[in-house]
Amino acid sequence: MSTIRQSLSGSDLLTRLEHRSCTFCDEGSLVRGQYKGNDAVVCDQCRTPMMQIWDME
Ligand SMILES: [Zn+2]
Repeated sequence: MSTIRQSLSGSDLLTRLEHRSCTFCDEGSLVRGQYKGNDAVVCDQCRTPMMQIWDME
């Protein structure tokens, strides 16, 4: 029996979110940052953390 490893890490997820448009303001785009001591993606304008987005479409 083979072992299937999770290929998508949290870090990969943050990278996918990076550079997307902010959904909370018109001007912002998402950048890598820290939120409460964890790696996160935050808006560079309104600083809203976006790491909780599940549906990225
Ligand atoms: Zn924003």
